[in-house]
Amino acid sequence: MGVTLSKKSVKESIENYLKALWVSTEKDQDLAQIKWIADHLKITPPSVVEMLKKLEKEKYVVYKLRRGVRLTDKGRKIAGRIVRNHRLMEVMAKKVLHTGIDHESVCGIEHHMDKDFANALCTLLDHPKRCPHGYPIPRGECCPDITTKVRPTLLKP
Ligand SMILES: [Zn+2]
Ligand SMILES: [Zn+2]
Repeated sequence: MGVTLSKKSVKESIENYLKALWVSTEKDQDLAQIKWIADHLKITPPSVVEMLKKLEKEKYVVYKLRRGVRLTDKGRKIAGRIVRNHRLMEVMAKKVLHTGIDHESVCGIEHHMDKDFANALCTLLDHPKRCPHGYPIPRGECCPDITTKVRPTLLKP
């Protein structure tokens, strides 16, 4: 019997790459670097490159050889949602559950939150703008400081 990845884990791994790219380019950096992504996801640079090529084929990223990679609008949409979910969960863990958390402890849940759940959680938490680590939380349709006309979940934080 061969080893096959379930659809779900492929989806999660794609989402983790897109999330890493988002985080990497959050601070005014235009292109994410292969080495940074490899360190961040704890995988080898050749595997990163291989995955990026797949993501480029699916039009999630634009990969510029030897220069770096950036998210397309399609990629940003997914990455922004995952980053938002992740950081909302961090805020909840701290504010509601009063647990000390690190970046990895909520990892996983963010892949399984639908938009309504995320917006309900965001509303419950009073639409936090930053996670406990100080990173910006992408705004959602529920957030009062956003008009739904301006690409609700796509705004660069
Ligand atoms: Zn955080
Ligand atoms: Zn909100």
